[in-house]
Amino acid sequence: TAGAAAAMVWFRKGLRVHDNPALDAARRGAARVYPVFVLDPRYLRPDPAAHSPGSARAGVARVRFLLESLSDLDAGLRRLGSRLLLLRARDDVPDALCAALRDWNIGKLCFEADTEPYALARDKRVTDFAAALGIEVFTPVSHTLFDPAEIIEKNGGRPPLTYQSFLAIAGEPPKPVMAEYSELPLIGDTGEYELLPVPKLEELGYGDISQENISPFRGGETEALKRMRESLQDKEWVSMFEKPKGDPSAFLKPATTVLSPYLKFGCLSSRYFYHCIQEVYRSTKKHTKPPVSLTGQLLWRDFFYTVSFGTLSFDHMKGNKICKQIPWRQNEELFVAWRDGRTGYPWIDAIMIQLRKWGWMHHLARHSVACFLTRGDLFIHWEKGRDVFERLLIDSDWAINNGNWLWLSCSSFFYQYHRIYSPISFGKKYDPNGDYIRHFIPVLKDMPKEYIYEPWTAPLSVQEKARCIVGRDYPKPVVDHEAASKECRKRMGEAYASNRLGGNTVNGKTSESSR
Ligand code: FAD
Repeated sequence: TAGAAAAMVWFRKGLRVHDNPALDAARRGAARVYPVFVLDPRYLRPDPAAHSPGSARAGVARVRFLLESLSDLDAGLRRLGSRLLLLRARDDVPDALCAALRDWNIGKLCFEADTEPYALARDKRVTDFAAALGIEVFTPVSHTLFDPAEIIEKNGGRPPLTYQSFLAIAGEPPKPVMAEYSELPLIGDTGEYELLPVPKLEELGYGDISQENISPFRGGETEALKRMRESLQDKEWVSMFEKPKGDPSAFLKPATTVLSPYLKFGCLSSRYFYHCIQEVYRSTKKHTKPPVSLTGQLLWRDFFYTVSFGTLSFDHMKGNKICKQIPWRQNEELFVAWRDGRTGYPWIDAIMIQLRKWGWMHHLARHSVACFLTRGDLFIHWEKGRDVFERLLIDSDWAINNGNWLWLSCSSFFYQYHRIYSPISFGKKYDPNGDYIRHFIPVLKDMPKEYIYEPWTAPLSVQEKARCIVGRDYPKPVVDHEAASKECRKRMGEAYASNRLGGNTVNGKTSESSR
C-alpha cells in the first residue's frame, strides 16, 4: 500500500465531494487514498480577549460553520467507503501535513489550488517538501470559475481592472467535473496517528455559546446543495434576478441566495452552481445578464479573485497601485461604536449586530455600514472595517472582502464619492415599519415607526412609553449625518485632487455602480 499506490487528497476549502477534481485525481490509479484536513490553530484557537466570541481571526459563527462542513464532508466520504482524517496542527499546518506525507509514504498529493497570500505561502512549503521527497503533486483550479493566473496571462500579464474587460477575456467557464463513482479506495494504514472525530465547539475550548449567538445557516455540502436547489426552483426569480435590486432588510427570507458561505468553504462548487443556473436559463424565455444577473454575481466573485491575485498589496492602501491614497483619520471611540453596533443609528447598528450574530448580511446592508465607516460619515480607514468583516462574516473571503471594501470606500473600482447612503432614509425605503431593526435591537422594539430610524427625535414621553430613553437605553448618534457626510465629501475631494497631483492615478473613472 506504499509508494505511488498511496495518494493523499488534502482538503482546505473545497469541502465537498461533487465537482472535486483533486479528489477525483487522487482516487484514479491509487490503491489507497488518505483524505486529510488539518485543523489550523491560526483560525481556531479561542481568543478570550477578542471583542466577541471566537478566535483572533474567526468569529464563533464561522468556526461552527467549518466544523459542520467537516462533519458533513466526513459523512459524504463515509458513504463512499472512506472517511475524513483530521489532523491537529500544534502550531503550523505544513509541519503536520508534511509529517503525514512522510509517515504514510504518500506517492501522490492532490489539493485544490488557492490564491490567497497566506495559502500560497503555506502551500509552497508543502510542495517544496513533496518535491524533495519525489512525491507527485496535482493542484487543479476548482474554487473559481476560471484560473486567475490564466486570465492575467491572457491580459498581457496584468489583471483586467474593470468587470467588462474581465468578461471580454474570460469567455465561458469550464464545465464542472461530475465524475460518477460509488466508492473510494480504502484509506491506508495510519500507524500511530490518532484518528479524531470532528471536534465540537466546546472541545475546541469555546465554552458554552448562548443560543442567541447562533447563525441560522448550517454548514456542509448537503445543506449547500439543498439550498441551491431551493433557490433554483423558482425559475422566474432566477431568470429575473437583478442586483442591486432586492430588499436588504429581509431577514426571515433573505432577498438573495445566501450561498456565499458555502462558496467560501467550497461546500458548493461555483462551476456547478453556474452550470445549474444556465440550465434554468435554458428553460425560460428570457433572463437578466451580467453584471446584474445571478451568473453575473459569480462573475463578480471571479473578477475580484483575479484582480486580487494579480495586485501587489491588494489588502492594503499603502503600496497598492490600484488604491487611492486617502488620509483616513484615527478615532478608536467612533470605530468601536461602529464595530459594536452602538452608533445611535438603528439601521447601521442592526446590520452590525446581524453581522456579529449571524455572520451574514445582505449586500446592500454591507454597502450601508461600509460607506458609513469610511467615506460616508466616520472617515475611518477601510482596512479597519475590512478586519471586522474578515473576522465575523461566515462567508469571509480574502479577495471578495478586500475588493468590496476598496470599492465602497471609493479607494478603487468605484469613484463616485459624492453618492453617500443615508443611515436614515435608505433602510426606511425598504422597511418603513423597522421590523429588521426591532428584531436585531430588541430595546427599540416598542419605538413607534415614525421614530424608529431616528429615535433621538422622539419626544421624551414617547421614549418613556417605549421604555427606551435615548442616551441611557440606546445611544445618541455618534455624529450628525448631515454635517459628517458634508465633511467627508470635502475630504474625499481633497484626497482625490492630491492623488492626481501625486500621479497615483487609477485606471480612469468607471461607472460600474450596478452591483
Ligand atoms: P447572491 O446575490 O445570491 O450571489 C451569489 C454569489 O455571488 C454570492 O454567494 C457570492 O459568492 C457572489 N457575489 C455576490 N455579490 C458579490 C460581490 N459584490 N462581489 C463578489 N462576489 C459576489 N462576499 C463574500 O462572499 N465574502 C466576503 O467576505 C464579502 N465581503 C463583502 C464586504 C463588503 C464591504 C461588501 C459590500 C460586500 C461583500 N461581499 C462579500 C459581497 C456580497 O455582499 C456577498 O457575496 C453577498 O451578499 C452574499 O450573499 P448571497 O450569497 O445571498 O449573494
